[in-house]
Amino acid sequence: MFDYLIVGAGFAGCVLAERLARGSGKKVVLCDVRPHIGGNAYDHHDAAGVLVHRYGPHVFHTSSREVFEYLSRFTEWRPYQHRVRAWVDGQLVPIPINLDTINQLYGLRLSAPEVEAFLASRAVRREQIRTSEDVIVSKVGVELYEKFFKHYTRKQWGLDPSELDAAVTARVPVRSNRDDRYFTDTYQAMPLHGFTRMFERMVDHPNIKILLNASFREMQSEIPHREVIFTGPVDAFFDHRFGKLPYRSLEFHFETKDQERYQDAPVINYPNENPYTRVTEFKYLTGQVHPKTTIVYEIPKGEGDPYYPVPRPENAALYRKYEELAKETPGVHFAGRLGTYRYYNMDQVVAQALTLYGKLAGVPNRQLAAAKAA
Ligand SMILES: Cc1cc2nc3c(=O)[nH]c(=O)nc-3n(C[C@H](O)[C@H](O)[C@H](O)COP(=O)(O)OP(=O)(O)OC[C@H]3O[C@@H](n4cnc5c(N)ncnc54)[C@H](O)[C@@H]3O)c2cc1C
Repeated sequence: MFDYLIVGAGFAGCVLAERLARGSGKKVVLCDVRPHIGGNAYDHHDAAGVLVHRYGPHVFHTSSREVFEYLSRFTEWRPYQHRVRAWVDGQLVPIPINLDTINQLYGLRLSAPEVEAFLASRAVRREQIRTSEDVIVSKVGVELYEKFFKHYTRKQWGLDPSELDAAVTARVPVRSNRDDRYFTDTYQAMPLHGFTRMFERMVDHPNIKILLNASFREMQSEIPHREVIFTGPVDAFFDHRFGKLPYRSLEFHFETKDQERYQDAPVINYPNENPYTRVTEFKYLTGQVHPKTTIVYEIPKGEGDPYYPVPRPENAALYRKYEELAKETPGVHFAGRLGTYRYYNMDQVVAQALTLYGKLAGVPNRQLAAAKAA
């Protein structure tokens, strides 16, 4: 008899398996429908030998010391500050918008206070900030909104920014300095030997049995277990009783180039009419030295693997119905991005999983709960 059947071997499932086995001596089965562990953070060497992320580029960043220290038990790190450029008006400019973005685009030489005044003069006052469009237009004005956000958001979500919750872009920073880092978190680093290696070390424990190509429905009756931790889609668990929770999906198009470097930045965003939103060159992220290089195009789609919960009030309301059902289902704990229908970064999922472990083991961790909420 296993203590836990854990469904999904992504960050949520692997952290919980590790903690329950190593921290509490529980016997755990970890299953995943996919043929590998790591969930969406899975990386592997492609046919040319370049380390790539199968489900889109993943960059680790966190301001939670607890999360960073926890993961450091399973990996060494390579310091990495992520930088993104946007292809706008025939040139590559820093994104988030900063002093250099404005000076480059408009052929100006403004100082920090001058760029603040420039943006303030273009910002459009909106009585109420309800949608993503309101957030951006009230910050940078209509022209920059159209150049950087309108088409990108439409492609990404299949919706106009005027139809999306303000929360989607509420944190889009605009800087009047020259800081061109994409993230400003305290810890910014990539696992030295990749994410998959880190996951392998995490779940390497005699109390953890891993079953791949194994779906929950198959395992549920075959594996004797006391409790379930479910990190797959919460609506699928309940057979979509109230209807399907909408997700945005992506198609990944990989290309290997017979050259050491392909583009001038780790990620280039295309906020225009092209079908793809961005192109990533993995070697920048991984630091790998290799005579060839692999890039990936991301093309957003309505159908396919569930990647991004669509942030609209009606979807949040639908999720709340599943959440109520989940609370009333004894012996099953829901976790992770799909289990709680929230877009979480990797560090937030780790914090959420550690908090759930704390509850299951009877040692709630307040600091981690705080990191999760941040
Ligand atoms: C394109 C993209 C880029 C991202 N980039 C970043 C980034 O740069 N930085 C960052 O911090 N975060 C990033 N994220 C978010 C990151 O992927 C998630 O935070 C993290 O992977 C979530 O882990 P999880 O365990 O909750 O879910 P997942 O990694 O999705 O794992 C869930 C697992 O459950 C399995 N599963 C589902 N249903 C079943 C079932 N019925 N039976 C068995 N198994 C099942 C799935 O196969 C999957 O492996 C990105 C996400 C996407 C989509």
